[in-house]
Order: sequence, then C-alpha cells, then structure tokens
Amino acid sequence: MPLLRDVFIALSENKVMNEASKKMGLKFGANKVVGGITVDETIERIKDINSQGMSVSFDNLGEFVTNKTDATKEKDLILKMIQAIGEEGVDASASVKLSQIGLNIDYDFCLDNVREIMDAAKANDMFVNIDMENHAAYDDTIRIVDQLMEEYDNIGTVLQSYLYSAKDDVYKYKDNRIRFVKGAYKESPQVALQSKEDIDKALELLIRLHLTKGEGFTSIATHDHNIIENMIDFIKENDIPNDRFEFQMLFGFRKELQRELVERGYNVCVYIPFGTDWYAYFMRRLAERPQNINLVVKSLSKDHTFKTASAAAGAVAIGFAALKIFKRK
Ligand SMILES: Cc1cc2nc3c(=O)[nH]c(=O)nc-3n(C[C@H](O)[C@H](O)[C@H](O)COP(=O)(O)OP(=O)(O)OC[C@H]3O[C@@H](n4cnc5c(N)ncnc54)[C@H](O)[C@@H]3O)c2cc1C
Repeated sequence: MPLLRDVFIALSENKVMNEASKKMGLKFGANKVVGGITVDETIERIKDINSQGMSVSFDNLGEFVTNKTDATKEKDLILKMIQAIGEEGVDASASVKLSQIGLNIDYDFCLDNVREIMDAAKANDMFVNIDMENHAAYDDTIRIVDQLMEEYDNIGTVLQSYLYSAKDDVYKYKDNRIRFVKGAYKESPQVALQSKEDIDKALELLIRLHLTKGEGFTSIATHDHNIIENMIDFIKENDIPNDRFEFQMLFGFRKELQRELVERGYNVCVYIPFGTDWYAYFMRRLAERPQNINLVVKSLSKDHTFKTASAAAGAVAIGFAALKIFKRK
C-alpha cells in the first residue's frame, strides 16, 4: 500500500499538527507506543519493562530541530534522563538522533552536544546508539560516529538495509555494536532499494555478515517474525553465543513476541520513545503498518477530552488517512 504509506509520512511532516500535538498530551492511542511525557513517567515504564526481563533503549522524541536554544533544551533532557537512569539503577541505554541536537544547525555544535551526552553516559556505564535518520543526514552522521568511535567505547550506530551503502558499512563496523533495521524513511532509488522483498533479503544478509565476520554486538531490530525465526536458525547453526546479539522492538509493538523471545532465553531490548514530541513518531508507525490505525480508533471511542480545536484537527487528519485505508481495501 505505497499510497497509504505516503499519506502517513506526509502527515508526520505536518508542522501544524506537530506543534499542536506538543500541547495535547498523548492522544489518539499514542500512549500505547510512547513511554511517557516526563522523565519520571518513563523511568516507571523502564522499571516495568525491566521487571519482564527486557532491557530498554530510550529515545527523546523530536527531530529536525532548527535552532540552538531548542537543541540545547533537548540535549539537557537527554542528560536528565541519563542521570535519572543512573540514580534509579535501571537497565537502559540511550538512542540519540543527531538532528535533534544540532546536526542541521552547526556540525561542531552538534559534535559538542554528543560529546556531552557520551561523557554523561560513560560516567553512568551506559551505551549510546546514534540513530540513523534520512539519507540527507547520512554523511554527517557517519562522520560524527567515526570520530566518536575513536574517543569512546560505549558508542554504536544503525545500518539501514534499504541503503546500497549498508553492505560496505557492515564490514567497516564488523567489530562495533550495530543495530540493523530495514529503514524508516522514504528514499530515492538512487540510494536505496525500493521493494520490500529486496529490503528484507538485504537485512538478513547484513545481520548474518555482522554475526560472523567480526567481534561486534548485533542488535536485530525488527518486528518481522519471519526474519526473526530465520536469524534464530542461523544463530543456532553457527553456534553464536547469546551475549553477541539481541532482538530489539519498539515499545507497544508485538508484546507477545517480545515475551516469547525472553521465554526462549534470548536478550530483548525495548526501544522506548518519550517526550512531548510524539506526533511524527506516531504517524511514522502508522505509515509502516496501517493496521496500527486500530490504536487510533480504539482511543477515539474512549476519549472524551476531544474538545480542543487542535485535537479536532488531528482527528480530521487521521480520519482522512483512515478513509484512504478503507477505500483501498
Ligand atoms: C528498535 C528499533 C529501532 C529502530 N531504529 C531505526 C533507526 O535508527 N533508523 C531507521 O531508519 N529506522 C529505525 N527503525 C525502524 C525500521 O527501519 C523499520 O521501519 C520498522 O522497524 C518496520 O520494519 P520491521 O522490520 O519492524 O517490519 P515490517 O516490514 O514493518 O513488517 C514485516 C512483517 O512483520 C509483521 N509485523 C510487523 N509489525 C507487526 C505488528 N505490530 N503486529 C503484528 N505483526 C507485525 C507483519 O507480518 C509484517 O508484514 C527502528 C526499528 C526498531 C524496531
């Protein structure tokens, strides 16, 4: 359903909705996929996930920040979360999007911000993953990751299987801690595979290479049970020990599969986004899997606080997308 994906991606980029949603609290079912608005709420979520035998990687929601004041505020919130995690002694690492802390404003300013985060994480014995964003940010992100890998041992990044460049990168990062994903953004055929089948195949190949060609730690980040089972078969055939890999899934998605993997003895890490800037993230999840619109429908039927103009605008926007789904079924 490429059209539907495009609709939700367009909605995710809607500036009016993005701004309005920051004042709304978690609406439209977003509370099912976002860990909390505040640090304290999110810490409680992390404790709950830890109690189920899973680790966490937190993500401060919000990206494409365009001024230094906002970027500094976001960096400070990440530092606050790192400190809270250290104080509470919960099992969590950090996932950081560089566009949130200045990548699109000033390269050196961004580098200084990540260094501050890396230092705080190091002091709390915490791993930091630099998330991979759209292809426009790829070169600068890799430059920063490479620079920081020389300075710190608690850093890793993400390879997106839809990018043609991922095959070279998997050898380059064979000894590092790397998260493997399909890729969440709309990219051109000049830089990225377009068919789901090719992207799936590429993901499996990259993971197999990373598990066998070096000494790195492999995070297999997908909700795709077929890929997960294929990887488990490969892991068994190649006697890969459990401390060399983990499965990662997003908070709120495929909870039963997460639990089942824990019961089967595998390490599972749940990626928990938090903060006020939930709207674009939520729309991207709908873009990936339009069936997630169920979350919206369920929440609207329960939600009596549907009074503000901005909330109504949101409903119209999401309703428009929903209509497209039903038309195409
Ligand atoms: C922990 C984590 C971190 C990520 N970090 C990044 C990042 O830094 N950069 C980036 O570009 N992308 C990132 N992504 C997003 C990723 O690139 C994909 O866009 C996203 O994970 C969707 O692809 P998928 O592999 O999960 O499965 P999909 O291709 O969405 O689904 C494959 C199949 O799995 C099944 N399935 C999927 N979801 C469900 C569900 N909820 N319930 C039931 N069945 C389901 C269905 O059968 C579906 O056909 C991340 C994803 C995860 C899980």
